[in-house]
Amino acid sequence: MPELPDLTAVAEELGRRVSGRKVLEVTAPSPILVRATPAALERLAGTTLGTPRRRGKFLVLPFDRDGAPDQLLAANPMLAGRFWLTGPKERVRARTGLRVRLDGDEDLRYVDREMLGKLYLLAPDRLDEIPGWPEMGPDADDPELTLDAFRQRIRRHPGELKPLLRNSRFVAGIGNAYSDEILWEAGLAPFRKRSTLDDAQIERLYHAMRSVLADATQRLRTLVPPEIQTQHREFLKVHLRGGSPCPRCGRELRQIGRREATTFCRTCQPPL
Ligand SMILES: [Zn+2]
Repeated sequence: MPELPDLTAVAEELGRRVSGRKVLEVTAPSPILVRATPAALERLAGTTLGTPRRRGKFLVLPFDRDGAPDQLLAANPMLAGRFWLTGPKERVRARTGLRVRLDGDEDLRYVDREMLGKLYLLAPDRLDEIPGWPEMGPDADDPELTLDAFRQRIRRHPGELKPLLRNSRFVAGIGNAYSDEILWEAGLAPFRKRSTLDDAQIERLYHAMRSVLADATQRLRTLVPPEIQTQHREFLKVHLRGGSPCPRCGRELRQIGRREATTFCRTCQPPL
């Protein structure tokens, strides 16, 4: 599942490669993924792609007219959605949710093997119509999310730490993989209740969140281009490495669950 670091790197690379390009045609080969009528997609012809940005686990792509955003495409790739830049002659694969034909012989496509992603096409002032958008907390890497602000927010969430980090009402952009990495970095067990944390542990969690996301974003800026459709997870320290030695203490990492697996170290992340 693309998370904050993945989507940041993809948004930046798209900004370099396709911002300012003229849109020739937009179609939805697998229309089920796109919350827009064919007529609304047709009207995007003649617009110019603006600068993409990330918000939470959404990639927001502006279609500009006369220098201002006319429509926004907000894409939440969920488990397996990927953006892909390719030549227009490349076969349109099954499960292609969106095809944006650009001048300069390039296509921007959205492909989703699991068909779980969601693409919304909206006027620029209507992002709040996306389910969950108005309630979204600050991005986990937002400079305004200071340690003090983090302390204030976390008080309202008494539950277990892993679902807490993944809860976009608390902070936005963290999913299954980076929540494991952050909790390992902080030395806190994923099943621990937030209500059991003392001040020093909350501070450790905050700094782990910031450093893990910043390091990953930095790495992905060099790993992602030019193949933006490939997800890079090879540098993660614990997520899905159950059975391997913990990089800190050497004890075998524990892994629970399959599709939504949680990986942790019982020594470095004691239950209490
Ligand atoms: Zn360990």
